[in-house]
Amino acid sequence: EVSSSPTFQPVLERIAAEIENTPGRGRPADYIPALAARDPRRFGMAVAEPDGTVYGVGDWRQPFSAQSITKVFTLALVLAGQGDPLWEHVGREPSGNAFNSLVQLEYENGIPRNPFINAGALVVTDRLQAQTGDAVGALLGFLRAESGNTHLAINKDIAASESAHGDRNAALGHFMAAYGNIVNPVPVLLDQYFHQCSIEASCADLALATGFLARHGIRADGTRLLTRSQAKQINAIMLTCGTYDAAGEFAYRVGLPGKSGVGGGIIAVVPGRCTLCVWSPGLDERGNSVAGVAALERFTTLTGLSVF
Ligand code: GLN
Repeated sequence: EVSSSPTFQPVLERIAAEIENTPGRGRPADYIPALAARDPRRFGMAVAEPDGTVYGVGDWRQPFSAQSITKVFTLALVLAGQGDPLWEHVGREPSGNAFNSLVQLEYENGIPRNPFINAGALVVTDRLQAQTGDAVGALLGFLRAESGNTHLAINKDIAASESAHGDRNAALGHFMAAYGNIVNPVPVLLDQYFHQCSIEASCADLALATGFLARHGIRADGTRLLTRSQAKQINAIMLTCGTYDAAGEFAYRVGLPGKSGVGGGIIAVVPGRCTLCVWSPGLDERGNSVAGVAALERFTTLTGLSVF
């Protein structure tokens, strides 16, 4: 146990050294060339405390493709702006299917299972677009404010690549629109979604930006974004749905609310204590970073910090 340590730095150094010696890193996402080129040996990890103190190791300041990690922040912005009516349009149950699956939508009348699979994230971004007129602008503004990094931006090449290879997401959008569950024109929604996925941020940026979930809904500037209950609810959905059809395994191994993206990043929350972000581009077959999950598992084991 090292949880009595005054800083998280020693535990991060230890985990990085262990990961360095671990063979088998999985494979980078290959659905777009820009992500397939990433080196699976890259590894970074950051821990942020609720007061904004941040510790890191390895490539923790290297921007990477945030991808589905952004789905946590769009959900927070929509819950803050619209509250519970969102749940008439998207469910809160784990899907047990792949993140880009279409199969459950027809049985469930175009209502996606949860906000973190692609179908559900499209519904949330659609609502954020209706709420703000500029979903990605609102998201970027939030991430910049919370991380303190005003340079945080979209990678235009990745956005173009997402769009060029976006048939599946387009199918999800159109299918839900056929059930009346999308309010914006589908091409407008897809453009927002592809740009959202293409935001680049570092482990330090994303650990800091997740801080409101450790602070029970309070933003970095001390103002309230979410009620305490809403922050709890998002943490709960991250635990049950944040790593797709591997959420059970993630809860078993790591024991924290977490959200992964196919760029190889994972954010995680220890409510009241700290937030984490780990990045390593090699994925398992369910789209979660192999070294990322291993590092988070070591973190909760070594520190004893978990929600259980
Ligand atoms: N851009 C990816 C997609 O929509 C994001 C998926 C993910 O990170 N799981 O397919």
